Amino acid sequence: MLAACRMIAVTNVTVSYGGGVLRKAPTVTALDNVSLSVKAGACHGLVGESGSGKTTLGRVLLGLVRPDRGSLVVGGLNPARLSRRETATFRRSVQCVFQDSGAVLNPRLSVGRSVREGLDIHRCGEPAERDAAVSRLFERVGLSQALASRFPHQLSGGQRQRVNLARALSLSPKILVADEPLSALDVSVQAQILDLFADIQRQTGLTIILITHDLKVAREICDTVSVLQAGQIVEQGGAAEVFAHPKHRYTERLVKSVPTPKFC
Ligand code: ADP
Ligand code: MG
Repeated sequence: MLAACRMIAVTNVTVSYGGGVLRKAPTVTALDNVSLSVKAGACHGLVGESGSGKTTLGRVLLGLVRPDRGSLVVGGLNPARLSRRETATFRRSVQCVFQDSGAVLNPRLSVGRSVREGLDIHRCGEPAERDAAVSRLFERVGLSQALASRFPHQLSGGQRQRVNLARALSLSPKILVADEPLSALDVSVQAQILDLFADIQRQTGLTIILITHDLKVAREICDTVSVLQAGQIVEQGGAAEVFAHPKHRYTERLVKSVPTPKFC
């Protein structure tokens, strides 16, 4: 019963980056015996300093990096061992949003076409139904329909990140991996996009992996968190509990380093 509601199960995963073609560079162990379990519909934060392995773990979940050791099940499938049919299912059901909202979008496509791309590739419904789906997606992420004909460079960073989110949601995924989705945005826009993530999670029951170096962001939106240090998970648990009563010295140091507003 417990296993049935688990959307992600990572067991003893290790990832090393090799020393280049000539094996002259030292090998980096980016993840060292990492285990993780995320319930369906939860928002799980991966927090830690730069270089702690957050992005690598996100890429493992997306099937972009193959573990050296360990096993994983993501949305019922093992991304390291997919048949051709499973690959198509996996690509639909596990989507991602990255930090650099502009780099991901094709500069030659209007943002409306970009949002429609996945629906066209996967031949979802009739063309008119796809148009209607794009309109609904624009509405869901709070974008005016009038922006659909614009190109990425004609939008603000926040608007582009909304387009990326609409693209990611277009195929009704089960899991969304968001890697530092707010880091490139102004503080005021960060708050709006964070609210949008929370709304979408509530409305859709999506399982979200939120990768962030910003503890305030994780505290705001995550149900559970894993704290990474040098490729190892040093602490895991409910976000409120971990941040209020950190058990590991590294987590405590991270919590203390978050600036608190001073009122005078
Ligand atoms: P984070 O997202 O927490 O900043 P990363 O997962 O990007 O951490 O990186 C973890 C470690 O792996 C770092 O030491 C980083 O330099 C190294 N690393 C990441 N990607 C590569 C790569 N493609 N080749 C070699 N080393 C890498
Ligand atoms: Mg990273």
